[in-house]
Order: sequence, then C-alpha cells, then structure tokens
Amino acid sequence: MPSESRMTQHLDPRSPWVISTHDLGKRPGTMRRTTLSLPAPADLGVDMIGVPKDAEVELDLRLEAVMEGVLVSGTAHAPLAGECARCLDPVTSDVEVNLQELFFYSGEDASEEDSLLDGELLDLEPTFRDAVVLALPLSPVCRDDCEGLCAECGIKLAEAGADHRHEKIDARWASLQGLISENDNDQEK
Ligand SMILES: [Zn+2]
Ligand SMILES: [Zn+2]
Repeated sequence: MPSESRMTQHLDPRSPWVISTHDLGKRPGTMRRTTLSLPAPADLGVDMIGVPKDAEVELDLRLEAVMEGVLVSGTAHAPLAGECARCLDPVTSDVEVNLQELFFYSGEDASEEDSLLDGELLDLEPTFRDAVVLALPLSPVCRDDCEGLCAECGIKLAEAGADHRHEKIDARWASLQGLISENDNDQEK
C-alpha cells in the first residue's frame, strides 16, 4: 500500500525546512504564528530564473492543529536571480508566494498527493518549492522595454544605437519596397 511506504520515510529534524509541531499538542484549534528565515534549497528554478541556493527565504507562517492534522498557511518571500530572456543580462528580482498545506497525521485520512506528518515533524520544502515554481516568470526581462539582441549579429540593441542595421537587411528591404510600389502602380492602372 502506498500510504504505508510513505509512512516509513522519516524526516531529518536537523533539516532547516523540517518544522516541529510539538507545541500544538494535536489539540484542534491550537494555533501558533511564527516567522522564520531559512536557506533556500538547491535547484529551485526554471530555465531562465530561480532562487539561488542558500539565499534567505523569509517565512511568515500560521500553524493550526485541525482534526486531521496540521494546517500550515502563510507567505514566503525569496530573492530571484536569472537572465533576461531577451538580452541575456543578469536579472535580479524577488518573489512572494502564498503557502497553504494540510499535513495529515495519518496516511489513512490522506490521498496520494497529500502531505503527511512524520510524528510531530513536517517538511515545508516541497510546499514552498511547488509554490515558487508556479510563481516564476517564464520569460524574465531586465526591463519591460528591453529591446533584446540584434537577430543578425547578436549585439545588444540598447547599446548599438538607433541606427544599427546591416547591409543585407537594407538590400532585402529595398527590393521589397520596389515590389510594393510596383504593385501599387499596377492597381492604379
Ligand atoms: Zn534585457
Ligand atoms: Zn546587428
């Protein structure tokens, strides 16, 4: 049974993202607020942007004992580092996500996708990871109006100047111009 195999997976209480719920005492209605500053886990990001490993993540959490387990809700705030999808310059930013997860006392009450407590311990890292990945921009940009790179030579257009162009493009454009004006003349006949 899948729930049994999941029960045997024990959490490391020394892991920074493993949180003890001991003080809630499994009494429904017991609640505590906590603010934490935790190091970001490794490999948290998508192609162009992510949370740097060990960067400081600020958490503002509410832990509440309910009948089936412990409900964790709150916010996490983390710095982001990556590359502009248009010009490849470094981009730094930050992200704030809402967290909400019910950690079940027992696998019997939970479905496959639900999170379980290991005794009095819960692991917040997967919840944080899922929320951040959903919130990351797929195409981060250094500025909303970033012009990106020249498709011909790869130079950054913001630095190349407004008159940056290539002869090849000019030639094609000129012949295209010629076609258009010829067509216009045809129509006028
Ligand atoms: Zn850019
Ligand atoms: Zn160019």
